[in-house]
Amino acid sequence: MSTDYYHILGVSREATDSEIKKAFYKKARELHPDVNKAPDAEEKFKELNEAYDVLSDSNKRVQYDRFGRVSSTGGGGGGYSYVDIGDLFGGGFGMGDLFSTFFGGAASSRAAVRKEGRDMGVGLRVTLEEVATGVKKELVYDRLAPCDTCKGKGVGEGGKFVECDYCKGSGRVVTVQHTFLGDMQTQTVCDQCGGSGKKIDKPCPECEGQGRLPDRQHISIEVPHGIRDGQQLRLKGYGEAGMHGAVAGDLIVTVRVDQHARLKREGDNLHTRVDISITQAALGATIYIDGILPAEKVEIKIPAGCQNDQMVRVRNKGLALFKKESRGDLFVHVTVIVPRSLTKRQQELLGELAEEFGDDIAGKKTVSQRIKEVLS
Ligand SMILES: [Zn+2]
Ligand SMILES: [Zn+2]
Repeated sequence: MSTDYYHILGVSREATDSEIKKAFYKKARELHPDVNKAPDAEEKFKELNEAYDVLSDSNKRVQYDRFGRVSSTGGGGGGYSYVDIGDLFGGGFGMGDLFSTFFGGAASSRAAVRKEGRDMGVGLRVTLEEVATGVKKELVYDRLAPCDTCKGKGVGEGGKFVECDYCKGSGRVVTVQHTFLGDMQTQTVCDQCGGSGKKIDKPCPECEGQGRLPDRQHISIEVPHGIRDGQQLRLKGYGEAGMHGAVAGDLIVTVRVDQHARLKREGDNLHTRVDISITQAALGATIYIDGILPAEKVEIKIPAGCQNDQMVRVRNKGLALFKKESRGDLFVHVTVIVPRSLTKRQQELLGELAEEFGDDIAGKKTVSQRIKEVLS
C-alpha cells in the first residue's frame, strides 16, 4: 500500500532538492485541475502534492526512505488543499495572465471596472382584491443611487476628467514578472483608473468621485390589474446607479399574489363555494355573495333541481384581464346542506312531503321499490 513518491515525481531516489522542486513544478503545471480536464487529473494532482510534500521536507524524506511511509501524513485524508497555481509560477498573478502570456493574447484576466449599474430585484406582495382593481404601492429598498452633490458625475467643484498618469490614458499596465520560466510580460487593467484611462482631478467629496452613494429609496409603483403571481415588472433605471453618470440598472419587481380566503384564482376566473338549503336546491333561488371588487354584490341564480357540487357560472364577475377592460368569470360550486336538526313543524312538513314523494321513511317499502323487487 506504500506509494512510490519518486515515481510520481519522475525523479531518481538520489534526486537533489532542486531537481525535486523542478520536477514538481513541471508536473503540477500539466496536472493542475484548472488546466488539465482529464477525469483523473484531480486525483493525480493530489498524489503529486502528497509526494512533493514528503520529498521536499528533509525530515519526512528520511522517514519515507527508511520506512516507505510517513506517519504524520495521510492520517485523516481528504483534507488536502491545492497549491494555488499562482504559487507555481512565482506568485502574484492568476491563470488569465498566464494564458495571455503563453498564447500571446493581449487580454488581461482582470476585466475593466464595470461602470453601468446592475439590475436589482425586489419582491412585492399584493392581495387578490388589489389584483382585481390594480393598485399603487410604495416600495422601499436600498441601492447605490446617483450622488445629489455632483449629479452623479463624481466630479467635485472646479474638477474635471484628466488622463490617468499611471497608465498614461491607456487603461492598462504592463508588468514584467521574473519567474523560473524566464521573464513574463503581462498586461493588467490599471487599478488607478479601473481601465478607463481617465481620472478626476478634484473628485466629489460626498461620493469620493464614484458618482453614486448607498441610499434608501422610496418609490411609488403602479401594479396593473389582472397581474399574475410571479409576474415581473421592470422599472427602467431604478436599479443600481452607474459610475460617473453611466447608465443605471433596472429594478425588477416580482409580484406575489396572496391567497384569498374565499375566492380561488384560476387564470382570470374565480372559483368559490356556497351552501344552499335542500329547498333552495329543489325550488331554485336567487342569492347574493360578495364579489372581488369593493362593495360588489354578485347575483347568483340557483336553478331549480340544483344538485350537490353543481357549478353555476356567473359571467364577467371574475378578475379583470391584465391591462384590459373585460373580466373573467365566477364559478360558484354549490353545496346542498341537509338540515341536522328540525323543529316539530319542519318534521311534519317534510313527512308530508315524503308521503307525497312516496318515500318510505318508516321501514315500509314504496310501491316502486316493490315493483322493482318483483321484476328482478
Ligand atoms: Zn490608469
Ligand atoms: Zn458625488
